Amino acid sequence: MTLAIDSARLSSEIDALASISDADVPAVTRIVFTPTDLRARAWLIERCREAGLAVRQDAIGNTFARWNGSVSDSPVVGTGSHIDAIPNAGKYDGVVGVLGGLEAIRALQRDGFRPRNSVELLLLTSEEPTRFGIGCIGSRLLSGTLSPDAARKLKDSEEKSVDEVRQAAGFGGELEEVKLPRGYYKAFVELHIEQGPVLERENIPLGIVTNIAAPASARILIEGAGGHAGGVLMPDRRDALCAASELILAVETAARTSGSIDTVATVGMCDVFPGAVNSIPSRVRLSLDVRDTDLARRDAVMQGVEHASQGISGKRSVSIRSELLNADAPADCAVEVVQALTRSCEKHRFRFRRMISRAYHDSLFISRISPVAMLFIPCRNGYSHRPDEYASPEDIARGALVLAETLASLSA
Ligand SMILES: [Zn+2]
Repeated sequence: MTLAIDSARLSSEIDALASISDADVPAVTRIVFTPTDLRARAWLIERCREAGLAVRQDAIGNTFARWNGSVSDSPVVGTGSHIDAIPNAGKYDGVVGVLGGLEAIRALQRDGFRPRNSVELLLLTSEEPTRFGIGCIGSRLLSGTLSPDAARKLKDSEEKSVDEVRQAAGFGGELEEVKLPRGYYKAFVELHIEQGPVLERENIPLGIVTNIAAPASARILIEGAGGHAGGVLMPDRRDALCAASELILAVETAARTSGSIDTVATVGMCDVFPGAVNSIPSRVRLSLDVRDTDLARRDAVMQGVEHASQGISGKRSVSIRSELLNADAPADCAVEVVQALTRSCEKHRFRFRRMISRAYHDSLFISRISPVAMLFIPCRNGYSHRPDEYASPEDIARGALVLAETLASLSA
């Protein structure tokens, strides 16, 4: 027998999961711990049980589907990703890594492979920051990057805490039990769409990730003074939106002048209060997102933004306060996992390139407790987090095949 991916089945499962959504086709919306998310999880658990995998869930809803190895207490070879989706997203994002991982395991089973180390498919909770304002809650807790106390303080927009929401969704137990011991994993590999244009542009079907960029994010609150758009003369104004405009451009400048193309900074949200045509903006909330492969350079940009804030605040007599949401270190992928992926590509004579992941993923956090690497496949126009996100069945099957080979070599 030869290792073969059932591409038709994998495609139909991706469609089936996409149909469990709070948005109309082709858009997918699946926010963590909503009834829709729970239905999607139940559907996935059924598929895992059909494959003979033993399923367990932890207190935050991370779901482990295990194919037991012949040496019972040896460290686990893991794969997986997330199935939550931001509002109006597409159907591939984390799903390819979860269903592709499941199909990789089934392909190995059909091939008669018997793993020595257990192979575990992992569905990680809330990779997307939609509900609680911070991404990768499951993998952060699992790796000890987020403390249970800090997790308990997180609230959604309805002021419901993580504990309230997870318990209502049926995930009891203590958050303290989520953290996995060091040495739990022998290796972890995450299959994912690139979410960028490099592979498609270079016509290369596979990317092996060697580094994952370091993200930092903050909320910025600017408070000035409101007033009537006709009545308050220009010298007397303390317009919060004008101050925000200067700050947004300072963010851009800080990233552009960092000295590296790998530095990126984004202000993606701007809430203006009171938001009326004839009223001077008195309050503005901004989001800030800065990423880099180099931690010192990323932090220098954050400091540059802080410095600019102080200058703008003084000059315009507005208050600018910033609340840091996360500032994570970058991850270097593990040589042995990168090599296992490389050998798998070479075995099938698939062309590949090494690359950096500029988006962050659960693997960034799992890297704190396990050797990790990621495998990227192309997605059309580099689009992701939108309804027209697309990866071809051929590219997905190729990724799943390389993943299967890699899981086999790591667990043999
Ligand atoms: Zn993702």
